[in-house]
Amino acid sequence: MARFAFDNTYVRELPGFYAPWQPAIAPAPQLLYLNDALDAELGLGAAALPPDEAAAVFSGNALPAGAEPIAQAYAGHQFGGFSPQLGDGRALLLGEVIDARGQRRDIAFKGSGRTPFSRGGDGKAAVGPMLREVLIGEAMHALGIPTTRALAVVATGELVRREGAFPGAVLTRVAASHLRVGTFQYFAARGDTERLALLADYAIARHDPALAGTAGRHLAFLASVAHRQATLMAQWMNVGFIHGVMNTDNMTISGETIDYGPCAFIEAYDPATVFSSIDHGGRYAYGNQPPIARWNLARLAETMLPLMAAPDDEAAAARAVAQVTEVIDAFPAWYAAALLRGRRAKLGLQSIADDAADTALAEDWLALLQQHAVDFTLAWRRLCDAAAGDANPLRALFAEPSAVNPWLARWQARCAQEDGPDGPAAAAPRAARMRAVNPWLIPRNHRVEEALAAASEHGDLAPLRQLLAALRRPFDEDVSFSRYAEPAPAALTAGYQTFCGT
Ligand code: AMP
Ligand code: MG
Repeated sequence: MARFAFDNTYVRELPGFYAPWQPAIAPAPQLLYLNDALDAELGLGAAALPPDEAAAVFSGNALPAGAEPIAQAYAGHQFGGFSPQLGDGRALLLGEVIDARGQRRDIAFKGSGRTPFSRGGDGKAAVGPMLREVLIGEAMHALGIPTTRALAVVATGELVRREGAFPGAVLTRVAASHLRVGTFQYFAARGDTERLALLADYAIARHDPALAGTAGRHLAFLASVAHRQATLMAQWMNVGFIHGVMNTDNMTISGETIDYGPCAFIEAYDPATVFSSIDHGGRYAYGNQPPIARWNLARLAETMLPLMAAPDDEAAAARAVAQVTEVIDAFPAWYAAALLRGRRAKLGLQSIADDAADTALAEDWLALLQQHAVDFTLAWRRLCDAAAGDANPLRALFAEPSAVNPWLARWQARCAQEDGPDGPAAAAPRAARMRAVNPWLIPRNHRVEEALAAASEHGDLAPLRQLLAALRRPFDEDVSFSRYAEPAPAALTAGYQTFCGT
């Protein structure tokens, strides 16, 4: 029997925050994916298990010793409307382990059957969307963006009903924690200040231990979560990631990206881009993500208020509102600073010169890409070639190649100003720096679909494995992976829709 070194603080310290529950039995489990590197990082030893035993463990049929499966309670604003009770409707937290770096990590199932929080749902997940979470999550990780990660995917051997019947799967997900904005909303909505206080102290101990026990910890905790989200949003925006369903139950306290549903990467640059089939109003469009993060943080701020002032102390309550408002109002500046840091790196700039001028330089570049419908990822990557001395690959991305010249001249002048007399000697190191932050490979929508269709429809996992191998090295321009770097045909992108997979 597999044994993981579980140490389950959530179960132990937060009774009343979850329902103990068991996964459904999978009729014919088959291991489709195991993340060996992550397994090693967690010290689980799962990679050493015979495949049928691993399939039994990661389907939920034979839980590892020490697992205490629970369905966590949470609420959430979905597309702006509040649901006081969501919770793990198809997920279970098995427990926590300490990884090789001493960090506590959750190990959880997704698609493991109905729970007390399932409402109308079947509690199940399909192979395609779970392998999609593998691909996008591992790509994000390789891009250096904080994210939950997929440890394993097992096909259950049963069919799940969606728009048709699809093979079912259980995903094993690893997270710094599964605490969400919605977890706080659940207890705040019930007026359960006692549990809210416990939750806050638990979250602080886990994610902001320096604040533990301090007098102003709730405000400082809010600010800390907001800082993490500001950094995360800047990273998403600088790599062209669109989450697709930024409900408050899908926003973590840890600052990791979570819940890969209808997410996709932008191709031709346009901030209004929406791929999700359910996002009719474009609430979660690419360009709306930073303001939505702020909106979600305002919902978290509201849950902190009862912790910052006694119920009958009006003066303290007014002070608390003013204090959390200050944090929420500071968010755009924190985001802008993180964004500019990332943009300077992408532009190959090291000197902190005029913020407004560098922001304008980046904005004008993006406006140019939008105006000429140029692929976001390739444009940045070809700008690295321009830094190395050859601007023609960049020009070739534009239908009218000379269109980029005036902007290029401006950027080159900014680089020259930074380099001073070292001009020629600075070119190669700048190009190398830029190539380390401007990916050549992102998960292209058509390649993701191709790999998932092969796996889901024909049981052929080879395309997925090849794509995954490529996505693990996003900054290396390896010609053997060229087909993964090509943008999708424009017609495909125009009609491309992603689904939640629920
Ligand atoms: P999402 O926004 O997709 O992360 O999910 C929103 C809520 O719906 C969460 O409470 C999920 O647990 C729940 N949910 C999603 N899919 C299912 C399903 N197939 N069965 C039961 N609950 C589900
Ligand atoms: Mg969710």
